Amino acid sequence: KLPTVAIVGRPNVGKSTLFNRLVGKRLALVDDRPGVTRDRREGDATLVGMDFRVVDTAGYEDEDPHSLPGRMRQQTEAAVAEADVALFMFDAREGVNPLDEEIGRWLRGGNTPVVLVANKAEGKAGDDGVLESFALGFGAPVELSAEHGQGLVELFEALRPHL
Ligand code: GDP
Ligand code: MG
Repeated sequence: KLPTVAIVGRPNVGKSTLFNRLVGKRLALVDDRPGVTRDRREGDATLVGMDFRVVDTAGYEDEDPHSLPGRMRQQTEAAVAEADVALFMFDAREGVNPLDEEIGRWLRGGNTPVVLVANKAEGKAGDDGVLESFALGFGAPVELSAEHGQGLVELFEALRPHL
């Protein structure tokens, strides 16, 4: 069984963009068990020659953005609990908001290792957000541009110890 990375974060930070970049045409399945995995997309990824399973969690996106209610939390909790590492993505251009902080607190309470990723970090527009994110408590983020394919080697280096 391949090691698994679960991509988590609030809506619109770029989770699916990274998922699509990592998985490309190798998208294997959508688990259609009702409820629990409804929004989960999984696929086999390759990054710098390393193969792993990647899960795009979208459970946050149907919900009130200011709360983490039960059903959504169940979906994402299951994906993160089963994963070898959680890739916690935020939007460097938007900076850290209260939902990012809430997700961060929740991840710190769990047992799955976390790699913090500052997406949309191309150019300088994300520099302030990168600095803000140290307050989340996961150390320095990996600076990524999922859209432009920048930072993938650094992402690989951050994930590798957990896979
Ligand atoms: P998700 O809701 O977290 O899955 O986010 P999506 O992958 O759907 O992306 C949300 C928006 O952010 C889309 O308009 C993307 O084109 C954009 N986006 C994703 N990655 C990047 C990036 O690296 N840089 C910039 N500037 N925009 C990005
Ligand atoms: Mg998405």
